[in-house]
Amino acid sequence: MKVFVLNSGSSSIKFQLFLISERTVLASGIVEKIGEEKSQITYEIQAPKSIKNSFEEQIPDHKTGMNRIVELLTDSTLGVLKDKSDVDVVGHRVVHGGEDFKKPALIDDKVLNAIKENSALAPLHNPANIVGIEVAREVFGSAKQVAVFDTAFHHTIPQQAYLYALPYELYSSLKIRRYGFHGTSHQYVAEKAAEMMNRELSSVNLITVHLGNGGSITAIKNGKSVDTSMGMTPLEGLIMGTRSGDIDPAIPFYICNNSDTSIDEVDQILNKKSGLKGICRQNDMREILAACDRDDSQAQLAVDMYCYRIKKYLGSYMAILGRLDAIVFTAGIGEHSAPIRNHICQGLEHLGIAIDKNKNEALKSGCRELQTDNYEVKILLIPTNEELKIALETENLLKS
Ligand code: ADP
Repeated sequence: MKVFVLNSGSSSIKFQLFLISERTVLASGIVEKIGEEKSQITYEIQAPKSIKNSFEEQIPDHKTGMNRIVELLTDSTLGVLKDKSDVDVVGHRVVHGGEDFKKPALIDDKVLNAIKENSALAPLHNPANIVGIEVAREVFGSAKQVAVFDTAFHHTIPQQAYLYALPYELYSSLKIRRYGFHGTSHQYVAEKAAEMMNRELSSVNLITVHLGNGGSITAIKNGKSVDTSMGMTPLEGLIMGTRSGDIDPAIPFYICNNSDTSIDEVDQILNKKSGLKGICRQNDMREILAACDRDDSQAQLAVDMYCYRIKKYLGSYMAILGRLDAIVFTAGIGEHSAPIRNHICQGLEHLGIAIDKNKNEALKSGCRELQTDNYEVKILLIPTNEELKIALETENLLKS
């Protein structure tokens, strides 16, 4: 079965084509800057050997972008398909499923409408995902379409953890509650962690720490998400590249009442100008760590704040889990930054957590254990693979 996985953003289309029976990627790439004067296309084929091509072209809209991807996939030299009808199913990443979707769904008009209705909860993400679905339905006429939701893994969070202490009517009428995000990633690494420990997922307690440009941390009890740091939107929780994470909810009113700043500008500040960028003007962790090496005190402050917030969540999730089997680090920073992992784990020996310096700093790829021998809690590094997880979920849905 050939599964085409799509992650559509407002000005980009990211894709991977899987031959899912073999768990292999046939082709992958991204069309970026759609609608701008010069769009950027990256296209890579993996077999028989890896070849990467980049082009600059004008791609005015998503439909043109998708047709261009199909042209590349079926190209006589760069292509991996005879015809676009060789794609059996398209698996879409959909950010917000609200309370409607607890698992992946085969897309028909009813499902598409429900995704549209949830757009108010994720105005930056769902509309772009919807454009991706509509264009893919048009372009890949015969292929089935499946939606896999970032929120779905977190549907097991109990009410005491997902409700905010606001008037209850705001939950009933506006659906204001914690939904959580990065669910596909948290679920994927949790399954891998159970595999690494030779245990059933349903018997393990984990804290999964996804640290990319966005970041979130999830408490997993007996294999199920029971709490997570992102909330109704991806703004809550950890300090991120450009997002503030948790703040006193009175701050936006204070800013509006005491400066010449509109509520839309506050929204921009919290989402785009805060987090690491707000503190040290940069949001790329590699550059921030390089600045720390040059004794840049503002960069060091940003790193200290970033790790402190994660540590606070680790402690609170340990309290609700009772027993903790493993902490899992994943995504760009979690997978690649030994200093950040080290910083987070310092001083936690009394909780059964200690990181081994050599294992942590070893330049190896793939899944591995980082804890000091004889410490109770495993510390696992597991590269996430959201696209593969979407492809597997898509395959599962069709098989069932
Ligand atoms: P996204 O959330 O956009 O998918 P990623 O998971 O790719 O992002 O993570 C991006 C982050 O990972 C950036 O802050 C980047 O600086 C960081 N990162 C990538 N490689 C390293 C590294 N070797 N050391 C420190 N940070 C890294």
